[in-house]
Amino acid sequence: MSKIKIAELFYSIQGEGRYMGVPSVFLRTFGCNFRCAGFGMPRGELSKEADDIAVMNAMHPFQKYEELPLVSTGCDSYASWHPDFKNLSPMLTSDAIVERTMEILPNNEWGTAHLVITGGEPLLGWQRAYPDLLNHPKMGKLKEITFETNGTQKLTPEFKQYLKQWAQNPPFASREITFSVSAKLPCSGEKWEEAILPEVVCEYEEVGTAYLKFVIATEEDFEDAKRAVIEYRKAGFTGHVYLMPVGGVESVYALNNRRVADLAMKNGLRYSDRLQVPLFKNEWGT
Ligand code: SF4
Repeated sequence: MSKIKIAELFYSIQGEGRYMGVPSVFLRTFGCNFRCAGFGMPRGELSKEADDIAVMNAMHPFQKYEELPLVSTGCDSYASWHPDFKNLSPMLTSDAIVERTMEILPNNEWGTAHLVITGGEPLLGWQRAYPDLLNHPKMGKLKEITFETNGTQKLTPEFKQYLKQWAQNPPFASREITFSVSAKLPCSGEKWEEAILPEVVCEYEEVGTAYLKFVIATEEDFEDAKRAVIEYRKAGFTGHVYLMPVGGVESVYALNNRRVADLAMKNGLRYSDRLQVPLFKNEWGT
């Protein structure tokens, strides 16, 4: 039976993108190919918050994921990839993941809830384990699935084929699959040529709905987003584009959400909130 290293598994409201407001199970896989230490920092500088927490952890190890401090710069999901916290993410079998999922769903059934497979970067090696999980008999009534990805990981031929065959196979024929692509602009601290990979994202559109979501703090970020959109469109990408304010903590988010909404309106793009910040203070498990 397949196993997946799980950083978090919780039930909440989707705060971002196409399914904003929809009750959702979040399955946060461990591991990411990026660090995104530039978020919330002046251009060219990288956050050390996650590494500072790792130093604290070395002296007094945190026992649970929920005990870890939240950060205001860098990746707000740092514990889902930072090697120093990997002991807090257990390797779970598909059966164990499904059992836990059914326990946290209201009335222990999918109802209108949708599944968000997030990270870290959920399309790293775990692609090989998803068919086992998604074919589980107790997942039969699940209708909507979103992969929250940074858009750099190609689908393996096996996983792509698996997703394509859903269309012909009851009870999965009515399943809808979405790729929420949070492509990383230079403000993330990642390199353009490694982060903006239009041909990878175009491939997602072959098996589901894909949209782009850009985290914006400044006009410069917005100019980068426009440049990226031109590249994606040139490659044939047809999906929607969202602008989303930077800010894993409320003080930062509240500084620029209105400005980003105005930019989206003026430019005919979609605005994505981060409902988890004002609603739940972006705490772990929300
Ligand atoms: S891609 Fe996402 S999970 Fe990975 S480091 Fe960047 S923000 Fe964090």
